[in-house]
Amino acid sequence: MTKHFSLKITSILIIAILFSSCNSNSHTDTSSKTSIANENPFESKIDSILKLMTLEEKLGQLNLPTSGDITTGAAKGSDVGERIKQGLVGGLFNIKTAEKIYEVQKVAVEQSRLGIPLIFGMDVIHGYKTTFPIPLGLSSSWDMEMIEKTARVAAIEASADGINWTFSPMVDISRDPRWGRVSEGNGEDPYLGSAIARAMVTGYQSDDLSSNNTLMSCVKHFALYGAVEAGRDYNTVDMSRIRMYNEYLAPYKAAIDAGVGSVMASFNEVDGVPATGNKWLLTDLLRDDWGFNGFVVTDYTGIYEMIAHGVGDKYAVSEQALKAGVDMDMAGDSPSIPAAFVKTLKASYENGKVTMDEIDTAVKRMLTAKYQLGLFDDPYRYCDFDRAKTEIFTPEHKAFARKVSAESMVLLKNEEQLLPLKKSGTIALIGPLAKATNNMAGTWSVATDQEQSNSVFDGLKEVIGDKATMLYAKGSNVDYDLELEQRATMFGKDIPRDGRTDKQLLEEALQIAVKSDVIVATLGESAELSGESSSRTDLGIPQVQKDLLNALLKTGKPVVLVLFTGRPLVLVEENENVPAILNAWFPGSEAGLAISDVLFGAVNPSGKLTATFPRNVGQVPLFYNHKNTGRPLGNSEGKFEKFKSNYIDVRNEPLYPFGYGLSYTTFDYANLKLDKTSINMDGEINVSVDVTNSGDYDGKEVVQLYIRDLVGSVTRPVRELKGFQKVLIKKGETQTITFKISVEDLKFYNSDLDYVAEPGQFQVFVGTNSDAKLMQAFELTK
Ligand code: BGC
Repeated sequence: MTKHFSLKITSILIIAILFSSCNSNSHTDTSSKTSIANENPFESKIDSILKLMTLEEKLGQLNLPTSGDITTGAAKGSDVGERIKQGLVGGLFNIKTAEKIYEVQKVAVEQSRLGIPLIFGMDVIHGYKTTFPIPLGLSSSWDMEMIEKTARVAAIEASADGINWTFSPMVDISRDPRWGRVSEGNGEDPYLGSAIARAMVTGYQSDDLSSNNTLMSCVKHFALYGAVEAGRDYNTVDMSRIRMYNEYLAPYKAAIDAGVGSVMASFNEVDGVPATGNKWLLTDLLRDDWGFNGFVVTDYTGIYEMIAHGVGDKYAVSEQALKAGVDMDMAGDSPSIPAAFVKTLKASYENGKVTMDEIDTAVKRMLTAKYQLGLFDDPYRYCDFDRAKTEIFTPEHKAFARKVSAESMVLLKNEEQLLPLKKSGTIALIGPLAKATNNMAGTWSVATDQEQSNSVFDGLKEVIGDKATMLYAKGSNVDYDLELEQRATMFGKDIPRDGRTDKQLLEEALQIAVKSDVIVATLGESAELSGESSSRTDLGIPQVQKDLLNALLKTGKPVVLVLFTGRPLVLVEENENVPAILNAWFPGSEAGLAISDVLFGAVNPSGKLTATFPRNVGQVPLFYNHKNTGRPLGNSEGKFEKFKSNYIDVRNEPLYPFGYGLSYTTFDYANLKLDKTSINMDGEINVSVDVTNSGDYDGKEVVQLYIRDLVGSVTRPVRELKGFQKVLIKKGETQTITFKISVEDLKFYNSDLDYVAEPGQFQVFVGTNSDAKLMQAFELTK
């Protein structure tokens, strides 16, 4: 109990007395492992509370208004305090600081009839105040331990600010970089995505949800949101069950298996039914097949949006959502939103459209979550006013963020070892993102103090010191189109439009460029050019910046492109013309220092892409684990072949494949060996490969293992990631890296949706990216 929990409130006492009298084994088991056990240890306590509750109070538990601090859609919170007093609110989101949350919790606990505590949620997506790279960037680190630790740090900081529930991880597989929200996910691969889902859930929840420095995690967006048609946000999804099971569902399932406490339904439809009202999805699959026992929350105004989806009126959509398995309604509680549990379910109950049992089921799940978080023990558990002073944005957290950011960057090109740079001579830093401190944290960084990030300008200055001269020019605006630029620099991330003309900006840049020994061009997307509701049809660097880049290249000076992006971009021209390209994503609050670490070689880059970079938007969706088709190309050079599956105007391969990323050193692969050429259904294969660091720097390499199932009862992908290891190999050193392939790794869902391994031939590829060439084969027998 925190020292701020001084008042014992009558209502809590009443409930507490009630608990002890009606629960024979009523120990306060709030330290149960994070997943809700099949037997709910809080059942009898919850039943006792339910008996005291009015229908309105029950519906209140299912109501999650926004605090009004931050909104992302049509609704705004209002009169929330009054409704909390009336017991009509179950939780709040997007409110922060222990002091504020304490005040609000106090209203719930002391002034509402039953004193049931609130749950406090927030989008703590890639760090809290200490901000790590956007999730797509973080995934490129392929370092599960580090990723888990980022979630742990985020949980420590957010809980120190009073929060106890995060709407993360986002694990939507996406193969469409037009969709702005690829930035929030972990790329295109279900195996890697599952590993990251587990790491994040474990990091947030740790092994004790009721501890005051853990957060309940909420996996989202269930399900398939990453497959929106044409990459347009909130659009329709239509997918076969077999694709769903084999290619999209695994990361959600991994989060469930890791004990995630809650699930957020997605905005899109699944099989023609909005996910928010989809019983097959939220109950049959999630609960009955996967055994999920936590609670389901809608996405922002998800119930209301079912009206526009065209499945019913305000009553029907709430009824459908409840019956489908939704427990909590996010942001429905606003005067402008007519459809919400709290507004319509009473009438639906009175009309016999929903039963008390259906309502109680949802209420029980909400109360269970509050028990798990320890809120019935101490509603102010997360309101220690002192913690924020010592646990948020600490030097240790910042140092860790600097390391994580550097480890997540992907070196896309490095001709003639232009990088790492020397700290000498004159460096021209040019580009509209060079000083954009407030853009460094990227999308969904709601708790970041944008101004406290370090920009590339700040970072270079600090790291270079007086060893070299740095010249700076903005060079261009973000975009020629002012309106697009404004849309791409919202939410406190504005990059003030320069009053000078494009020509004047360019001339200034060229003047410093010619005086320099090397140009560092910081270009790409601004933070809000990707993220929610930021779908694009053009995947290039904005034209004004491309024009700047081309002009810089014409000076003949060596140019390093430091790229900011929240999605795979089309970089064909840049790859052709720019000698060195470092993809920094949006690196987080320590952006500038981390970028400088990589540019000057304090950190040797080791990130690998987790999403394919296409050559052309027309290739999208483009992903490494595609099917072979009946008419695959017959040549490996990508030459056009008539009546084969290819394009007449562009080759099939991406510009940079999944798993791709360079280092300042080089790694050679040799001696791929399998210890057996045949295994049966109980068998296991040991795989080994020698990896030699043949270059001049120590470096980390992500060694990747892919399999191909050559014949199946259903068609199988040309490659599937089934193992990876990130290893540090010193220069000149050779390490033998080993993997195990078990029959579990060979399983897939067949046409009956049974999860099976089928006997037959398999190939194993190991290498530096998904285009790995070393191959060995084995057979799986009955
Ligand atoms: C997003 C969610 C987010 C929610 C709450 C929605 O617009 O889709 O990912 O968690 O807002 O802020």
